[in-house]
Amino acid sequence: MNQFSMDRRKFIQSSALSALSIKPALKSLQNASLRDEYVKILNPLGRVPVSMIIDDSTSLVNLAYYGIPQFAKVFPKNYLQDWRKLPREIPDSFVVEFIEWCDAHGVKGKYSMVPYPACTGWLHRFIPGWSEEELRKSLDLVRNEVTRNWDIHPEMISHTRVINVNTGLPFGEATPRFMENWEWSQDKSADELTEYLAFALNILKEAGFSCDGVTTPGGFGSRNMSNLATATMEAVNETYSTGEFLEEKGANRYLPGFAKWRLCTGGKLVFVTSGQ
Ligand SMILES: [Zn+2]
Repeated sequence: MNQFSMDRRKFIQSSALSALSIKPALKSLQNASLRDEYVKILNPLGRVPVSMIIDDSTSLVNLAYYGIPQFAKVFPKNYLQDWRKLPREIPDSFVVEFIEWCDAHGVKGKYSMVPYPACTGWLHRFIPGWSEEELRKSLDLVRNEVTRNWDIHPEMISHTRVINVNTGLPFGEATPRFMENWEWSQDKSADELTEYLAFALNILKEAGFSCDGVTTPGGFGSRNMSNLATATMEAVNETYSTGEFLEEKGANRYLPGFAKWRLCTGGKLVFVTSGQ
């Protein structure tokens, strides 16, 4: 056990205590809503908010081209696509076209930036096959244009092989047990998942992105939801200060009337709503 993991354990314990302290207030709020026949729950502005979720995106790398052969190694019968015929790159010109269309139609949402896409290279360092200048321009495009209306998430670290966070290397075994989409995450503690998620978030932080959540690739943590939920909160709070999050992002960037809540480490329930 190192100093880092000891600190995290203490941190999780104190966060759990903070969460407990707000539980009675939440309970009475829920009970009041259920009991009071005059209370109606209305959508903001009387409309249904819709948010678009873009998965498997990153800078330059076409995750399908590099990821399908890795999935096929694990499940040879399930991944028969001719991945060699796919383009190896998602060009920035396509990202520009897509974002311009979204801006023109008021489309907003979540946009993944896979930090170590299919084990090709690192967003905060370099990606073999593209120049450092090309990567820098691609990151600038997402930072300057995409983040205006889209939340950026890591989609774990590689979206393919599980990475040993102590070495930065993929584990040696190409089986479902060591793929992010399948088994590895299902029996891990909240501590272990926090370490994994924080590793992904730190790459994006160093690449200049502020994230307030993560996207799970495939079934990552799908049978371990409680630990995954705790780990997501801890990893985001550990990587980015919640106080900064609220101040820095402000309210108006979200969908009109869209309410978003998060539990701060201090045990306060905070709503962020748009003023529109
Ligand atoms: Zn995905």
